[in-house]
Amino acid sequence: MAQETCPHIDALTDLKRASRLECEECVKIGASWVHLRTCQTCGGTRCCDDSPNRHASRHARATGHPVISSAEPGERWVYCFQDEAFAEY
Ligand SMILES: [Zn+2]
Ligand SMILES: [Zn+2]
Ligand SMILES: [Zn+2]
Repeated sequence: MAQETCPHIDALTDLKRASRLECEECVKIGASWVHLRTCQTCGGTRCCDDSPNRHASRHARATGHPVISSAEPGERWVYCFQDEAFAEY
């Protein structure tokens, strides 16, 4: 898989891990999700674009927090919304 990093991904030192394996926005509204992503700026965990509410990308657009990591067990990658950059680690 291609490694297409960007300044935001290059600047990551410690990866933030999901404190709880649930979408903090979906929990509030009683919705469900497909996969979970953790914001690498604020550490919040939200749902992916396959989920009905797409909270992770909405959060990224609303806040400008560019980089998420997958919070799924066994998945080790980060993604930058601003640059559409992807990297495995
Ligand atoms: Zn970036
Ligand atoms: Zn959600
Ligand atoms: Zn954030």
